[in-house]
Amino acid sequence: MTTQASSPTILVVEDESSIASFVSLYLKNAGYTVRTASTGAAGLAEAANNPALIVLDLMLPDLDGIEVCKRIRQTSDVPILMLTARDEDVDKIIGLEVGADDYLTKPFNPRELVARIKSILRRSAPNRRDLETEVLEHGDLRIDAGRREVKVVNEEIQLAPKEFDLLWELLDHRGLVLTRDQLLERVWGYTFAGDTRTVDVHVRQLRRKLGDASPIVTVWGVGYKVSPAKEASREHAPA
Ligand code: CA
Repeated sequence: MTTQASSPTILVVEDESSIASFVSLYLKNAGYTVRTASTGAAGLAEAANNPALIVLDLMLPDLDGIEVCKRIRQTSDVPILMLTARDEDVDKIIGLEVGADDYLTKPFNPRELVARIKSILRRSAPNRRDLETEVLEHGDLRIDAGRREVKVVNEEIQLAPKEFDLLWELLDHRGLVLTRDQLLERVWGYTFAGDTRTVDVHVRQLRRKLGDASPIVTVWGVGYKVSPAKEASREHAPA
């Protein structure tokens, strides 16, 4: 496979110039083209040039990273990795309201940032999506991988990209318990033991959004699995 075309462009939106420059340095050394922006407004303007991925700081002087991320999401599925100073922000960031794909808490190891960017780009490669033209049904849930659409009975449920991938991965392995590390590797593409809190945050969001239709069962001390399908409640479907 020779993908030696132009190197993917990473947009780094970060107002702290010391962080922006060391992140840029590591990304350039890893072979990426780097663009930087030091305000939310400048980040939005740069995002319009279709970068392959955006590293977005949460705390910016004008628009905060959450607002920037929401606005980008109105028109684009570009992968977004958020940088945050606090762990508490994670639930919000990863959820649909904001729609980031991943996050790192400051201070972070730049090698980990590069590793995550590589895996996000690998996972968002178009050839993977082409394979997913399948539909899975489980009780009241219907998941169309081609359209990336989830329905409970007939109601469409809006999921963030990683929530969708996680749900698919679990349903695709019905009957098996998947550990948090396995889920991280399969859904996020980490090839090392990463921060498994990401998995828990996404499971929590899925349960909240799917309500009673959520098939996800916690296997204490191990990971997650899918419960056997209940009888589909088709009688609730509108005629
Ligand atoms: Ca900042």
